[in-house]
Amino acid sequence: MRSQFVVHYGEVGTKGDNRVVFESALGKNLRASLADLNEVEVRKKNQRFFVTVDEKDAQEAEQKISAVFGVAWYSKVETAPLSYDSILKTAKELIGRRTPVVPGAKDTFRVSVRRPNKSFGTSSQDLARKLGEDLVNEFGLGVDLSNPGTELFVDVISDRALLYVSKMKGPGGLPVGVTGRVLHLLSGGIDSPAGAWLMMKRGCKPVYLHFYLAPTPMSVVESKISGLIQTLTKFGGGTRLILIPFAPYQIATQDLPDDFEPTVFRYFMRLVAERLAEEMDFPAMSTGDNLAQVASQTLHNLSCMDRGSSVPVLRPLLGYDKDEIIQLAKRIGTYETSLVEYKDCCSIISRHPRTRMRWEYVEDSARRFRFGELVSQCILMGSAVSFAKGPEKPPLVEPLQTFLDRIEQRKESIRLTRKNQAPRGPMPGE
Ligand code: ATP
Ligand code: MG
Repeated sequence: MRSQFVVHYGEVGTKGDNRVVFESALGKNLRASLADLNEVEVRKKNQRFFVTVDEKDAQEAEQKISAVFGVAWYSKVETAPLSYDSILKTAKELIGRRTPVVPGAKDTFRVSVRRPNKSFGTSSQDLARKLGEDLVNEFGLGVDLSNPGTELFVDVISDRALLYVSKMKGPGGLPVGVTGRVLHLLSGGIDSPAGAWLMMKRGCKPVYLHFYLAPTPMSVVESKISGLIQTLTKFGGGTRLILIPFAPYQIATQDLPDDFEPTVFRYFMRLVAERLAEEMDFPAMSTGDNLAQVASQTLHNLSCMDRGSSVPVLRPLLGYDKDEIIQLAKRIGTYETSLVEYKDCCSIISRHPRTRMRWEYVEDSARRFRFGELVSQCILMGSAVSFAKGPEKPPLVEPLQTFLDRIEQRKESIRLTRKNQAPRGPMPGE
């Protein structure tokens, strides 16, 4: 037996000329998210997607669909041929096995019909009324139009009717990948994974950047950082983590005044991220920064961090308070992992940071400790880790330079192909 879901997209459908691109990205992401299941079928028709899976996989499919950005809502549906008798038969089956209401409560229902297919002879109101009467006769239910125990939805589309009794809310937003790629600074804390999720919600595909204190990149791969990324791949698909050692910075800046440390280090992280984003052709970087949640995140200090960047720094959590971030992290499933002990480089720096850092001090420190060279040195010592979707496949580690060389080769071959093609405007996501 097969189970069918109908998947609706809200915002995706409103994007004018780019709509086809958004719809095809949503179809691709739905397919990718369901790829582990047997004999999955994903088809677009009548401005909605139809997902068909084996009945035994229905629950898993539902969970996966619920994590795909761009999905406004979805339902498990039954279908009926376009005749009143067939629709009634399917309606009786659905209502017959609906979840029983609380004992003693009045068992009520209503029928809601939508009829985008106007060639179906009966009007929406007439169809709802007729079905309602027949179902009352069959099951002895009460009708309650404003607060029904069960709502039977009937959508009459071009070639059939879709019947369902529950509408599940999807995560909304835009399909991951359609708005472009971002380099997301990920720490082991609660905030930055939640920030990555919000970036994905707006259609960005994150590649993660982490500065580590651990002795080897493998110790990071074996830490909770991998766990966090694996959870995030449920929403954004396979990705990469770029690991940059913190030690060269720490050795070079031993004489840095204690109270400068948080802002100067954040400025350094930003310089590394900017260099990498440029090399990878990413239009933006993002962080889990909040405003004034900790002393290092004052407006003054954030402005020092961003000063002179050729790549914008996006901060999706800026308007959130800590409780909202914690609720979001719990919902995404990263909260518990974030609580696991981990020695992050930010946890060892100054306990009394300046809240109004002056740019001249940051600029001076960058000159004194030769940040330009230090950035290159750290990147040379970096690693790139690739993560497939889900925890089943172990991450693969390679030197960062090998990964960057591959990107350079790809850019070169795209440049050559473009040279031989007629000019065209940029595609969304470029
Ligand atoms: P989080 O919970 O994400 O660690 P936080 O409230 O603890 O956030 P900070 O430690 O001040 O805040 O870090 C602010 C942001 O700087 C993080 O959200 C992250 O984007 C970035 N960041 C901090 N530490 C690192 C790191 N080791 N590697 C990469 N990015 C980092
Ligand atoms: Mg932190």
